[in-house]
Amino acid sequence: MSPVRLEALRLSGIESTADLLYLFPRRYIDRSTILPVISVRAQTDPITVIGTVTGIKEIGFGKKKRLVATIYDGTGILDAVFFKGLAYFKKRLKTGKTISLFGVPKRFGGVTNMTHPDIEDIDDDDAGGRGVVPIYPSTAFMKNTYITNSVIQGWIREILDFKNYQEYLPEYLLSQLGVPERMTALRYVHLPESLSQPAMGTQRFKTEELLLFQMSMQRLRADRVQKNPGLMLKKGDLTKRFLTEVLPFRLTEGQSAALKVISADFQSSQQMNRLLQGDVGSGKTVVAIASMLIGLDSGYQAAMMAPTEILAEQHFHTLNGYLGPLGINIRLLTGNQPVALRRDILSDIAGGTAHIIVGTHAIIQDNVKFSKLGVAIIDEQHRFGVLQRSNLLSKGQHPHVLVMSATPIPRSLALTLYSDLDVSVIKGLPEGRKPVVTVLKYDSNRGEVYQFLEEQIDEGGQVYVVFPLVDESESIDLKDATMGFEQLSSRFSRYHVGLVHGRMRSDEKERVMKSFSEGETQILVSTTVIEVGVNVPNASVMVVEHAERFGLSQLHQLRGRIGRGARKSYCILMSDVKRSKDARVRLETMVRTSDGFEIAEVDLKLRGPGDFLGTKQSGLPDFRFADIVEDQLMVQEMRDLARLILDEDPDLGLPKNDGLKRVFERYFRSKARYFSMG
Ligand code: ADP
Ligand code: MG
Repeated sequence: MSPVRLEALRLSGIESTADLLYLFPRRYIDRSTILPVISVRAQTDPITVIGTVTGIKEIGFGKKKRLVATIYDGTGILDAVFFKGLAYFKKRLKTGKTISLFGVPKRFGGVTNMTHPDIEDIDDDDAGGRGVVPIYPSTAFMKNTYITNSVIQGWIREILDFKNYQEYLPEYLLSQLGVPERMTALRYVHLPESLSQPAMGTQRFKTEELLLFQMSMQRLRADRVQKNPGLMLKKGDLTKRFLTEVLPFRLTEGQSAALKVISADFQSSQQMNRLLQGDVGSGKTVVAIASMLIGLDSGYQAAMMAPTEILAEQHFHTLNGYLGPLGINIRLLTGNQPVALRRDILSDIAGGTAHIIVGTHAIIQDNVKFSKLGVAIIDEQHRFGVLQRSNLLSKGQHPHVLVMSATPIPRSLALTLYSDLDVSVIKGLPEGRKPVVTVLKYDSNRGEVYQFLEEQIDEGGQVYVVFPLVDESESIDLKDATMGFEQLSSRFSRYHVGLVHGRMRSDEKERVMKSFSEGETQILVSTTVIEVGVNVPNASVMVVEHAERFGLSQLHQLRGRIGRGARKSYCILMSDVKRSKDARVRLETMVRTSDGFEIAEVDLKLRGPGDFLGTKQSGLPDFRFADIVEDQLMVQEMRDLARLILDEDPDLGLPKNDGLKRVFERYFRSKARYFSMG
C-alpha cells in the first residue's frame, strides 16, 4: 500500500489490520431491492439504483451552480445533482463508470433526479451480480486518496481470505449465546450473502463487548467488597423519633420497602453502594434522611452531597427543619464560604461535633477529614461521575453510599452506568397525589387559557407560570419572564402576581416564595428555579411558556410541582405552532403519560446517552459496537451472564475460561482510565 494511503488510513483512525477488520459497514445495498430507473417514482424514502455515468456537466452560475451526472441503467435515465464538492464529484464520476446511487428520487421537468445521493463505485464484475454490498464509512482523508468503497472491500476480503483469527471466547459461551464464532461473524459482517447475516455478525461483537464491560464492573465491585468491610449500623432512637414524631406523615409502602433494603445493607457487613430510584415526588429525601439517622444512631456521621449550591442549601434547610428539634448538628459546606467559616466547619467535621454535613462536591475534597463518616448520600441529578462516587466510597472508614437519581434513569442506562451499584426503586407516590391533566395550547388559545386561570384562582387555587431559562446569563430569556410578569400583572390586576428568577438575591427569592406558599400571591411567574424542591400543595395549575424549548426530564420535574394537594391539577404547555419533530415528540409524550420512567426512556432515545445525562463527560464508557439504547435487552442479559460466569469462576482460572481470561484482562487494561474511576 502506498505511504500516502497508509497515512490517510492512519488519519482516519485505522492503524492495523485489526482496525480495518473492525471498520464495520454503515449500511448495505441489497441488490435484490435495486430498482430499474424506469419504475422509479418521486417519493420520500430513499432507494437504490445502479447505473453507468453517460455524461457529466456543470450548469448555472454562482449559488445555483451545480454538477449534473446522467446515469443510464438500461431501462431509463436519472440525473444525479450536486451543489457542493463539484470538483471532487467531477473527478469521481467519469463517464463510463458504474455506480450505485442511494437517495430520495424526485421528478423535475419530466426527469427523475436525486440530489446529493450517496454514491458508491461498483466493480464491473459486480454490476450485474446479486447479493449484498457493504458500504463502509469514509473520511475526507480516504476520499482524497481514492480509497473508495470497493478498495476497502478488496482489502478486507483479502484479509479474511488469507488470515485465520483464533477464537478466544469459550465454546460453551458461544453456543449459550447463540452467536457465531469470530471468523464467521467477521465474514457475516463484511461478506454477507444475505441481508440477515450482518446483524447476526454484529450481534456477536455487541454481546462480547457488553459481556466484557459487565464483567469489569463485577470485578470492580468484588474488589471493593473484599477491600472494604461494611460498617454495622443499627436503627436507634433518632431514626425512630424521626419516623414517628417528626414526620407529619407515614412512609409510603415504597419508601418503607426501600428503607428496609437499606437497613439490611447496613447489617450485611458489606459496604453498601446503592442507587435509589423513584419518580419525581416519590419521597426519596425522606428515605435518605432516615438512612443518615441510622448512621447517627450507631455513632457515625453522615454526609449529603448535592450537585449545585442551590440544591445543597435547599437540603440544608429541609434537614434543619426536620432534625433541628432532635438536637442534631448540621453543617453546610460549599465551595465559596469565607475562610474563617470554612475552617470552623472543617474542624467541626474532623472533631465529630458536626453530625450531618450537607454540601456540594466540596465535601469530597481531600482536605475534608471526617471524624467517623458512616453514611454518604449523593443526590445526583445525573451530574456526578463514577470518579466522584468512588471518592466517597473510599473516604475514611468506607461509608455506606446511597446514590439518588433526581429523575428516573431508564433501566438500560442504570445497568451500564451504574452496574457496580445495587438498584432500588421506590414504587408509587405518597397518597393524595392526583394525576395531572396535561394539555397542549398555542398562542391563539391564550384568551381561553387566561380565562381558565381566572376561574381556578377564583376557586382558591394558585398558579405557576414558567418561562424557559436556558442559561442564567441570557438576558433575552430573562426579558421573556419579566415581560410575562408585567403582562400577567396587568391582566390579573385583581390578584397578586409574583416574580422569581435565578438572578435575584436569595433573601428576595425567599420573600417571593414565602408569599406564594402562604397563599398571598396567586400567580408565581418564574424561570426554572422552581424546578426542584418547591412544595406548595395548593398550587394546582402550571403554565409552561415556550414549552417546546424545555427538555423532557425538565418538563417532568416541573410538572412534579403540581398535583400535590387536594385540588385537581392542570399542566398547560404553551407552544409555538412551528417546532421541531423532537419538540413535538416531547410535548406529545408529556400529554400522553406521567410515568417518569416512560418519559425518561423517550428522552434517552431522543437525546442519546451522553446528552441525556446532561454532560458529555458523563462517565459513560465508549461502546464500539453496542448501543445501550437500542441494545437494552442485551445489556441486561450480559449483566446476568457476567455474574454467572464470575460466580462460578471468580479469577477465570478454569481451563474452559482460558481465552476469556486473556481477552478480559486485555479489555480491562484498555479501559483502565474508565475503570480506575470505578
Ligand atoms: P423526590 O423523590 O422527588 O426527591 P421529595 O423527597 O422531595 O421527592 O418528596 C416530595 C414531597 O413529598 C415532599 O414535600 C415530601 O415532604 C413529601 N413526602 C415524602 N414522603 C411522603 C409521604 N410518605 N407522605 C406524604 N408526603 C410525603
Ligand atoms: Mg429530590
